[in-house]
Amino acid sequence: MTIYAATIVDTPGDPFAGDPADALAEVGALCVREGVICARGTLAALAAEYPGEPVTRLDGGILVPGFIDTHVHFPQIRAIGGLGMPLLDWLEQCALPEESKLAEVAYAREVAGEFLDGLLASGTTSALVFGSHFAPAMDELFGAAGQRGLNITSGLVLSDRILRPDLLNTPETALADSADLIGRWHDRGRLRYAVTPRFSLSATDDMLDVCAQLLGKGVWFTSHINENVAEIATVAGLFPGARHYLDTYRRHGLVTERSVFAHNVHPDDAELATLAEHGASVAHCPTSNCALGSGLFPLRRHVEHGVHIALGSDVGAGAGLFLPKEALQAYFIQQLLGADGLALTPVHLLYLATRAGALALGLDDRVGDFAVGKDFDAVWLRPAPSSTLAVNLRQASDVTDALARVFALSTPADVAAVWLRGQRAAGQDPR
Ligand SMILES: [Zn+2]
Repeated sequence: MTIYAATIVDTPGDPFAGDPADALAEVGALCVREGVICARGTLAALAAEYPGEPVTRLDGGILVPGFIDTHVHFPQIRAIGGLGMPLLDWLEQCALPEESKLAEVAYAREVAGEFLDGLLASGTTSALVFGSHFAPAMDELFGAAGQRGLNITSGLVLSDRILRPDLLNTPETALADSADLIGRWHDRGRLRYAVTPRFSLSATDDMLDVCAQLLGKGVWFTSHINENVAEIATVAGLFPGARHYLDTYRRHGLVTERSVFAHNVHPDDAELATLAEHGASVAHCPTSNCALGSGLFPLRRHVEHGVHIALGSDVGAGAGLFLPKEALQAYFIQQLLGADGLALTPVHLLYLATRAGALALGLDDRVGDFAVGKDFDAVWLRPAPSSTLAVNLRQASDVTDALARVFALSTPADVAAVWLRGQRAAGQDPR
């Protein structure tokens, strides 16, 4: 057992449901037994309740729940920074040539390690990971994630048209390879499987039928939707019978409580109503949307329709793995939308980077905040004393003000330590 004493901040409530301030909680200490939080309170109270137990003091900075990234591509970790292109050009010129290289297992192994270590260095402890088109590469990702103790949901990417030929599979091989991977990895420790058609642009109705069969095995589902106007027009042409983009998935039973759709920058009201009706979630990817010029996310319309949203880094189109940067960019976008935007507070930003992701991934009984009974997945953000963030934290008037300064200024360099189910992750700076 260990008692952690720190400035501990989490969002057990929902800032979109009422006064955002009510969603925030601050506490001075947590007691962790076998990786699980068993008490929270003041240090004095916990030290009295558990006399003689070791106390770890995390002085300076703040301790927050591990970040939860609901949309990130592991085969693109080496393809960040391809600026100046819209989605379909970027895919063809930047992302997909790199993804092809994962056909080689040794290459995939290196990339998986770089990706997962990058997540940890950014304070991300749970992620819904868009996988590779190659099954052996998925074995590498799952194996390496299991070794590190990360909470990873991922799956083989499925496509049977339009993309470069080496990335295509048939519905038959997709079914067999995915079923094998589910058998090997789903619900093994902290690993889970997600059925992952790249997008309906590159998946025929036969392939989407296979996805429905696989989803029946009790796994998760993720894909892309409504990211870019040229993409949306192409999908409309490929599915003349569909009412809208979401309908290409809905017709196959793929819009469920276990479905997470990335982007949704250009939804119509019928799509938002359908997402809400089925309890599906949307992964908002702010830096990617800006980098590719995809558009300004209509967050207010999602909230008003009751669609659950969380954050995704969307690396490699996104500008890095650090979720606070995505949260800050989400804030910027809502500011730019003016009256159509939804002004986000620092409490919203922490919620979006943590508990909102846990809810989207159905992990809210395990992670996302520091409630008693949950896994101790945590990030200690502590800036170097001379940094501008440290200067600003010393000026913060209260914990909400401190959070605002953290979201404005923090970088992965401020990640002083990360815990996964109570285990300090290797490679962290023990300052
Ligand atoms: Zn993506």
